[in-house]
Amino acid sequence: MKSTVTFHGGVGTVTGANFLLDTGSQKILVDCGILQQENACSEENFAPFSYDASAIDALLVTHAHADHIGRIPKLVHDGYKGPLYSTPATKDLAALMFDDALRVMKERDEKQGCGMLYEKEDAERALAAWQVHDYRAPFSLGDMSVEFTDAGHILGAAIVRVSRAGKSIVFSGDVGNSPEPLLNDTEMPRNSDYMVVESVYGDRVHEGKEGRKEMLRAAVEETRKNKGTLLIPSFSIERTQILLFELNEMVESGSMAPIPVFLDSPLAIRVTDVFRRYKELLSPTLRARFEGGDDPFSFPGLKVTPNIGQSRDIHKESDPKIIIAGAGMSGGGRIREHEREYLPMKNATLLFVGYQAPGSLGRRIQDGEKHVVIDGEHIRIKASVSALSGYSGHADRDQLLSFVESAGEKLKKVFVTMGEPKSSLFLAQRIKDFLGVEAIVPEKGDSLEIEL
Ligand SMILES: [Zn+2]
Repeated sequence: MKSTVTFHGGVGTVTGANFLLDTGSQKILVDCGILQQENACSEENFAPFSYDASAIDALLVTHAHADHIGRIPKLVHDGYKGPLYSTPATKDLAALMFDDALRVMKERDEKQGCGMLYEKEDAERALAAWQVHDYRAPFSLGDMSVEFTDAGHILGAAIVRVSRAGKSIVFSGDVGNSPEPLLNDTEMPRNSDYMVVESVYGDRVHEGKEGRKEMLRAAVEETRKNKGTLLIPSFSIERTQILLFELNEMVESGSMAPIPVFLDSPLAIRVTDVFRRYKELLSPTLRARFEGGDDPFSFPGLKVTPNIGQSRDIHKESDPKIIIAGAGMSGGGRIREHEREYLPMKNATLLFVGYQAPGSLGRRIQDGEKHVVIDGEHIRIKASVSALSGYSGHADRDQLLSFVESAGEKLKKVFVTMGEPKSSLFLAQRIKDFLGVEAIVPEKGDSLEIEL
């Protein structure tokens, strides 16, 4: 049997995952992500899909990051009427993400007039048609079988396998940086014929994770000594929960004195509750904590501030204190209010714990700009700026190579996607050189035939 895979997005760049598997009997889409997450206003996101949305039969969703789900409601708006499939946790997180994206879009539309990518009803219709399947619980889609396994990337993230008559293709989604404290390790995609693999860090090796908790501790103690405020712009899914867990470990073990920590992100607060609902997906360490009656995301000193009034009141709280708020690259969200307040202060620290995309406010500050404009206000930065490494949620080049290698001897062809061109080409070359397997870096719109 023959199928074709068409790369409608997620090639030549890390964002916008959107792959179409045409099996002859069905058109199955995998992911439908947003491009340039820091600027949802960008024209690329508003452009029509390069296929007829109403002709698609099914949509498989790997995980709830915006670059994998962000245009799903637009797909529904543009005529998609079929079912969606993911793990239960991904559906719950996607519902929160759509809600948050609608709020952010409304704000941007009011300020910049860039219009709405979709309306609330589109997101609601997507969620109404959304079916869920657990990891390792295969289900049928016409003459195809589909199975989700644990990607170890964020809560609920899946590697998607589509099979027919003993042949299979695996879509990696994003591959986790295992081992991680919160999640189980990435499941290896054994016995696969074809693979669509991500390559965000296809050409780089991560620094060790060993030092990151100590670096976090040092930043907290420096803040305590300076009687200042430590600002941490953080991504709502996974990164925030890792920070809470690591602070929890230090405070509850008695190795760090309690300090006021404000979790000032309505989205991150709700996402943390989703983690609490899916204890069975968490790592053995975390499950044991919950079973022992301890909440690993809560500790003395932590205050959650879901309401905007509570958020504003944080500025009246005495120092030292820590504020964790989104968005992770300071492109929007409450962190901007705090940056306006604290960046001009000498005894404050801005601590990055994640990748800052070129052009984002976070990146400009990280690169050393001393004057920035935040929501019309000129800010002179006197605060210290630093970054913690070791928090990446993605596999690095060596982990990706092991992931591909685990597919085994049947592996015929690998499509290297979701990376900057340099990164994808580097990984493809290593797959050819080290594994002797054909590896292709597709371009946008390429359609390639496979035996499936
Ligand atoms: Zn992701």
